[in-house]
Amino acid sequence: MTDAKSTVLILLGPPGAGKGTQARMLEEKFGLVQLSTGDLLRAAVAQGTPAGKAAKAVMEEGGLVSDEIVLAILRDRLGQPDVARGIILDGFPRTAGQAADLDKLLKYTGQNVDAAISLEVDDEAMITRVAGRYTCAKCGEGYHDEFKQPAVAGVCDKCGGTEFKRRADDNAETARARLEAYHAQTAPLIAHYRALGVLQEVDAMGSIDKIAADLGSVVERVSA
Ligand code: ADP
Repeated sequence: MTDAKSTVLILLGPPGAGKGTQARMLEEKFGLVQLSTGDLLRAAVAQGTPAGKAAKAVMEEGGLVSDEIVLAILRDRLGQPDVARGIILDGFPRTAGQAADLDKLLKYTGQNVDAAISLEVDDEAMITRVAGRYTCAKCGEGYHDEFKQPAVAGVCDKCGGTEFKRRADDNAETARARLEAYHAQTAPLIAHYRALGVLQEVDAMGSIDKIAADLGSVVERVSA
């Protein structure tokens, strides 16, 4: 896994809070590696691995994949050498069991969580955000039906790509189920990390750049 001095950050927040967007910005700014269990699971589904096959239906319904499967794919990813400078966990841990697994894993490697950053947003806005979002199939740039269309219709602003994709679970109904799963199973982790003294709360209803600046200050402070 990562060496003893590397930074470990956790991003907490409901679907649509901007965890992925912000994690990518933190990657660039601080040379950390984003580990998104959602991305890892989608890759497993696309490749048709046994874990992917087991996860597919539950993901489409907006439920949570079993802790066992998620931990196994995360462990695999943590075994790769690029994580040495530090990691941003995006979408993990999502249950009390996963938080306990992470604590054990870090204890074993002599690390600790430098910060668990909770992105504070309001629920209704999340449904609208998630249900309208899509990305460029080539470079991954994010767009939204209502809030951010490409300058030239059908052409990605960033790479000129002309194909776009939408996640199977990005619709209003599934987004509601995911939000419920977040409140029932993940939001209690806020208290867990507060008790450990590493919780940082960031208002995530402003502009992407303002949120990135606020997060950047937190990361500078905790990794100093
Ligand atoms: P979002 O945070 O926008 O809902 P993610 O890409 O993080 O999206 O996750 C998509 C789906 O993948 C989740 O709804 C869930 O089914 C599954 N998933 C991702 N991470 C985990 C995890 N740590 N534990 C269980 N299921 C997970």
